[in-house]
Order: sequence, then structure tokens, then C-alpha cells
Amino acid sequence: MSANQFCSTCETDKHLKPQAVSAEFKIKGKKFPYTYEVLVCEKCGEYVSSPAQNDEILKGAYDAYKYANGLLLTDDIIAIREKYQLSLRDFSKILGVSYITYHRYEKGAIPDSSINSLLVLINENPENLKTLFEQSKEKFNPAIAQKIQIKIDNVVAEFSDDMCSDCHYQQYYEKTFLERTAQMKLTISNPYRIAN
Ligand SMILES: [Zn+2]
Repeated sequence: MSANQFCSTCETDKHLKPQAVSAEFKIKGKKFPYTYEVLVCEKCGEYVSSPAQNDEILKGAYDAYKYANGLLLTDDIIAIREKYQLSLRDFSKILGVSYITYHRYEKGAIPDSSINSLLVLINENPENLKTLFEQSKEKFNPAIAQKIQIKIDNVVAEFSDDMCSDCHYQQYYEKTFLERTAQMKLTISNPYRIAN
């Protein structure tokens, strides 16, 4: 990656080259090493970065920390909520955290391990969100609660139709169980079958 971009030191467009920077970020009170890429002006050697690029670097460091610690990445958290088409406010209420706290998670903050586990369970099976919602239903006015219920039920229905490996196993298991039950009945109702 190389590009011509404005260098504020040279005060003109200069050719920039990527350069790796190894740094330590203080995350959750601990030093976390993270290597990222910056663009450096080939002429004066200054870093050329925008606030958006700095945000990306910080997000990258936090995601690397999460990955290293087995936590969901920021985009995963956003994707889980979006799968249910729930607002930040409604989703945070169901999770039992404040709106501000949840909003921070979607901005890159590291969730507590208990919230992380909860999100993992919700991601693995929508029935878990359904259960959680049933426990927090009284926090919502009935009309909103009904809308949320429909949204969650839609995901639950999609999940049952999904061809994911877990469902395959479940469907396979149920099928073989039914088949076994059917065979048992057949065996019981038709004693000659055993004889033959
Ligand atoms: Zn320069």
C-alpha cells in the first residue's frame, strides 16, 4: 500500500510509504503489545495520519486484545444485535446493562466476561435471547415488548431452518429418535416381524 497524501510538515502532497510500528497499549490496566501500520512521508519521515486512521489503530489494538483473550470482537457484538434488528436501547435492556455501557461495547470497549458469555450464548442459539427477554419483559411497555417478541421469534424460526452444523445434528438426532420410536412401535404391534 502506498499513496500520495498531504503531508502537513512538507505542506504538499508527498509519496507515503507504509511502516510497521510496534507499540504497547494499556488495556484493562495491562500493557498489551500490538503492531500496526502507519503511513510515513518519504521525504521528511513524519507519520501522516487522520483521526479516523488513529481510531482504526486503536480499534485494531482492542480487537487484537479481545482475540487474544477469547472475547468477541466489536464487529461481532454489533452483528449479534443487528441479526435481531433490535435498537441499542432495547438490546441493552434485555442484557441488563445500561444503554451507555452497551453503547461503549459497540464503540470498542471490552465487555465484562459475564456479558461476553451472555452474548456468545445469544449468538449460538436465539432461544437464549428469547429466554432472557422473557425474564426482562416487564421492563418494556406491552406494545414494544410485542414488537421485540416478533423480531426474536423471526430469528428463532430462521435458526431452526438453518443448515448450520449444530442444527443438522439436532435434526438428525430427532429424526433418528423418531425412527427408532417408530420401529419400536412396529416391532411391538407386529410380533411376526421379530419371528421373521
Ligand atoms: Zn513530509
